[in-house]
Amino acid sequence: MGLQIELGDITTYRVDAIVNAANRTLLGGGGVDGAIHRAAGQKLLEECKTLGGCETGEAKITGGYRLPAKYVIHTPGPIWYGGSRGEAEKLRSSYANSLRLAEEAGCKTVAFPSISTGVFHYPQDEAAGIAVHTILTFLKTAKSVQRVIMVCFDRKTLAAYERALHAAQASS
Ligand code: ADP
Repeated sequence: MGLQIELGDITTYRVDAIVNAANRTLLGGGGVDGAIHRAAGQKLLEECKTLGGCETGEAKITGGYRLPAKYVIHTPGPIWYGGSRGEAEKLRSSYANSLRLAEEAGCKTVAFPSISTGVFHYPQDEAAGIAVHTILTFLKTAKSVQRVIMVCFDRKTLAAYERALHAAQASS
């Protein structure tokens, strides 16, 4: 139950849905997006081609194909331009819209990567604060989603999310 923070590779998670830190084309890219497409296979790209892209902060759901996860929820997070271009609200929307789609699909378990903190350069501690707050707020009223896992790919990212979770717990 609740929010867990772990070190791992999201493509290996046997959960109802994994979230992909996509770009607006939804046609694949580097980082976690590339890893998810490689692991899921060509059929994921074929389905993504039918979706017509996705706006920043919005989300779209597909099958998981060869992944152990049943679904992939694709969300383009914001590119960091310094913080005055609505980046925080867009990042919050990416998490909230992904969780809403997971709920609508009846998912119980959802795994997220650290959206926007790779090639999109969102500062890690700020991104972690937004992610943790949005997930904890959502879990208070969720009906279907019971467990959310933040899957961190390196120890520095893991430490940022652990700090954010401790801070959120201390202030609640
Ligand atoms: P963005 O474009 O949203 O910044 P990136 O893919 O560049 O997305 O990076 C987002 C985060 O995903 C980074 O912390 C990166 O280290 C991490 N990442 C890369 N590959 C994986 C993976 N297989 N599992 C989980 N996280 C990953």
